[in-house]
Amino acid sequence: MDINTETRRSVAFIGSECYPFVKTGGLGDVMYALPKALADLNCDVKVILPRYHCIPWKYQEKMVYRGSFNMDLCADGTSYYVGIMEYVWDGVVYDFIDNDDFFTNGNPYTNLVDDIPKYCYFSKAALAALNYMNWIPDVIHCHDWQASLVPVLLRTQFADTPIKDAKTIMTIHNLRFQGVYNIPTIRYWTNLPEDVFNIDVFKTGYEDANILKAGLAYADIITTVSDTYAGEIQTPFYGEHLDAHMRHHAGKLRGIVNGIDVVQWDPKTDPKLAANYDISEVLPQKKLNKKALQEELGLEVDDGKFIIGLISRLTDQKGLDLVDAVLPGLIDGNTQIVVLGTGDAKYEDAFRYYENEYKGTVCSCIMYDEGRAHRIYAGADALLVPSLFEPCGLTQLIAMRYGTVPIVRETGGLYDTVEPFNQFTLQGNGFTFDRYEADLLYDAINRAKTVFFTDRWHWDEMVQRDMAKDVSWEASARQYRELYMELKPQ
Ligand code: ADP
Repeated sequence: MDINTETRRSVAFIGSECYPFVKTGGLGDVMYALPKALADLNCDVKVILPRYHCIPWKYQEKMVYRGSFNMDLCADGTSYYVGIMEYVWDGVVYDFIDNDDFFTNGNPYTNLVDDIPKYCYFSKAALAALNYMNWIPDVIHCHDWQASLVPVLLRTQFADTPIKDAKTIMTIHNLRFQGVYNIPTIRYWTNLPEDVFNIDVFKTGYEDANILKAGLAYADIITTVSDTYAGEIQTPFYGEHLDAHMRHHAGKLRGIVNGIDVVQWDPKTDPKLAANYDISEVLPQKKLNKKALQEELGLEVDDGKFIIGLISRLTDQKGLDLVDAVLPGLIDGNTQIVVLGTGDAKYEDAFRYYENEYKGTVCSCIMYDEGRAHRIYAGADALLVPSLFEPCGLTQLIAMRYGTVPIVRETGGLYDTVEPFNQFTLQGNGFTFDRYEADLLYDAINRAKTVFFTDRWHWDEMVQRDMAKDVSWEASARQYRELYMELKPQ
């Protein structure tokens, strides 16, 4: 059926970050790309975000004041100002919740002491703002723990207000982050009754409250960002102490894999690249990007070298202890390694050390740099994603779009999106390994190198297969739309 003749659905996205206003990781990409894809599928979408001070001025100055009111928040009756600043762009309406007490510090996160009140306020203000604007969506789509109070507040403090008719979806982008703090603090900031602080909703351990857990209990549907991760989080290894809770709610849990915005990430038009290309020109043009990257980073300029890229938050989740273990063994005179990321000091220091030790061969960019990320995706031959766990992962999708072969661990969305190269059928999109062991990562990289150096014809075919793979949001956005229809059929 033509999507334009189907019933229109309205959705409010509530989350803590959204490209290009503020982004620290994949959540920011999803909050930008999915609403746009849904708008193309005949959905009315509003995205509700905090108005952080760190949002660049070029966006702040375009925001339009939409109204303001005072809202009760804490148990002692303290009330707070809620301003609504609106920005309409590309078919999507962005409403920023404005309050200087909560959103002045951080990039956007600081520490739980500040973040717990900040997101208690934000979740309640988002619902109150929808009522204030008299915009009652069919579905409220909440993302990660920062928006996880929304389903709980909707069925308690907002149960007699117009917004009560909305259904809720809670999407888990990363189960590791849950918003756990002591019960008295969360009770104070939410002013919720004692009876929700039980073991099925908020309570975790002896004395803590877990905001994500409560939101999952109250949401009408839970989704996470790949099918495999939806299964994994029901096991103790990946369940981050919520595996029993996930199993209990498995009946309303689905996995929908992320896509990427193929306009933002398009090697044919990307202004940040040295040379643009589509699938027909990828082989010669990628060489130009490789040369430009080697020059930019002070690496030996030689298109015969195998460049391995790594673009990542430098944290334990990303499998960097494995990379640390294998890196010296990869230095063979024919391989170059480019790292872009920030995070834990132990990894930042390790990569700085390797750059110093292997000058001209290893380059560690300990920074967050959007432009450089684009140039690495275009100039590298392979991209490493050896994660301990990976709910979906976007870097392997972007890499494929740019004709860069992913080398990944078979977990979560990496397992669902990268088909391993099969040397007999000559099919597949990348190289994979299963158990979390350095030797297996080393082996996967060496398999990739073997094909690159001894069978370039089939390597180049894989590069083209990767570029041809559909990594857009379209199929996934349709699945979300079907979920909205399922929740609100009429
Ligand atoms: P996560 O959300 O766990 O950090 P994802 O793979 O889902 O990981 O998304 C990471 C996103 O952040 C990608 O768009 C990637 O290009 C980007 N990114 C990560 N680190 C950097 C960095 N140092 N500089 C620029 N972009 C980065």
